[in-house]
Amino acid sequence: MLHITCDLCGKELQPQEDGRYVVKIEVFAAHDPRELTEADLDEDHMEAVSQMLRDLEDDDTAPDPTTPVYKKFRYDLCPDCQKKFLRDPLNKETEQKFDFSEN
Ligand SMILES: [Zn+2]
Repeated sequence: MLHITCDLCGKELQPQEDGRYVVKIEVFAAHDPRELTEADLDEDHMEAVSQMLRDLEDDDTAPDPTTPVYKKFRYDLCPDCQKKFLRDPLNKETEQKFDFSEN
C-alpha cells in the first residue's frame, strides 16, 4: 500500500478520510515577454538580435551553474497544513519567529 505523508508535519495521510492537498511550486528566471517583439524579428533587426545573442554567450557573468534556472517542487499536505500554507505560502511568519530568541 502506498503511504503518503504530509511534507510539512509528517502526518500519514489517508486520502479517503482526511483529504490530501498537492502543492506545486515552480521557480524560474522571469523573462519579460515584451523583450523580444515581432519587430525584433524583422530582417533589419535580425543581425542586431544575433549579435546580442553572441554577446550573451560571451558574457562572463553567466548565471552560477550551481543555481538551477528552473526548479519544480511538489508537496503533499494534510488539510491542516494546507490551511497553514494558504495563509502563509512563503513561510514569512515562521521566519519572523526565528528572529526572536526562545530563551
Ligand atoms: Zn501536515
